Amino acid sequence: MIKRDYYEILGIDKNASKDDIKKAYRKLAMQYHPDRNPDDKQAEEKFKEAAEAYEVLNSDEKKAKYDRFGHDGVRSGYGSQGFTDINDIFSHFSDIFSGGSIFDDFFGSGQRSRRRKTGGTPGTDLKVTLKLTLEEISDGVSKKIKLKKAVKCDECKGTGAEGGSSTKTCPVCHGSGEVKTVSRSVFGQFVNIQTCNNCNGEGTVVDSPCKKCRGDGRIQNETTVKIDVPPGVYQGSYMTMRGEGNAGKREGQPGDLIVVFEEIPHDYFIRNNDDIIYDLHISFPESVLGIEVDVPTLKGKAKLKIDPGTQPGKLLRMRDKGIKHLNESGYGDQLVKINIDIPKKVTTREKEILKELSESTSFKNPGKKDDKNFFKRFGL
Ligand SMILES: [Zn+2]
Ligand SMILES: [Zn+2]
Repeated sequence: MIKRDYYEILGIDKNASKDDIKKAYRKLAMQYHPDRNPDDKQAEEKFKEAAEAYEVLNSDEKKAKYDRFGHDGVRSGYGSQGFTDINDIFSHFSDIFSGGSIFDDFFGSGQRSRRRKTGGTPGTDLKVTLKLTLEEISDGVSKKIKLKKAVKCDECKGTGAEGGSSTKTCPVCHGSGEVKTVSRSVFGQFVNIQTCNNCNGEGTVVDSPCKKCRGDGRIQNETTVKIDVPPGVYQGSYMTMRGEGNAGKREGQPGDLIVVFEEIPHDYFIRNNDDIIYDLHISFPESVLGIEVDVPTLKGKAKLKIDPGTQPGKLLRMRDKGIKHLNESGYGDQLVKINIDIPKKVTTREKEILKELSESTSFKNPGKKDDKNFFKRFGL
């Protein structure tokens, strides 16, 4: 491959000032920057070529040799046979590629500067299980729970830097948070991009770390979190509380708190969506004669009238005594299932009465009543 003239590469003439050389190189570096041309081999070559030209022309000594002897003049002794590793370019011209450089302007919304602006490492999410009674679910509840989590260090206000000392661009990755390594094989070059170990990919390091958090920017602490549980949540449903998880390392975004709801089984009620089912046990005479009884509801006792002749298995609906709908207005119902208890033992006197009853008109031929039972109707 015939090497192109360095002046030609940068598009300048031999009398260009140092400033012009730098400007010309910046322009090309922006144009062929690997961030802008991912997986573009040609752009990468142009990027390397420009770096090589700049490396020589930016040095008075090398430039003089190049001017006199051409490529041969700088070939030996200076390692100026071109950059094979893009990472070498970044580190070699860190004045151009690190913070406050052209790339801030150019990649204003790009990855490099975004990483810098956000800073730190995001915190992890936390998950808690919150046990709730049906009563609490029914109308929603506000609960305070104690939680051990990473919080911002109060000493350094989360920066990880002691006494307001500042952070600086990581000298290893020059703020990119990434280190590129090139391995060579018979198939060619492989560029590996890895998170910078020195700064854990943050792009910045602390000058003197905060003693309390050892530069982490956060400490473990027990905190109280108030959780407003909306009405109508159900077993296994969850709520995400943004930013209530572990604090991020050195001002990184905090994680979320994920609250998973668990329903505590109720002594009396079974939940069926937003309805609740209650098993009411009455006696045979009560079912025949009718009765007014007290039944428990989620909000205390309530009166319920049982009509004379109420059949076993009948479901009585108590409107709006169930669970409040999630995300919409209105409540479910309480369904009261009628169970008739048959005594296992009766006295002699009771036996006599029952015998007499069984001979009486109403009991002798009860007739075919609507025994299509209510369980089927309600899908129970
Ligand atoms: Zn601290
Ligand atoms: Zn680094």
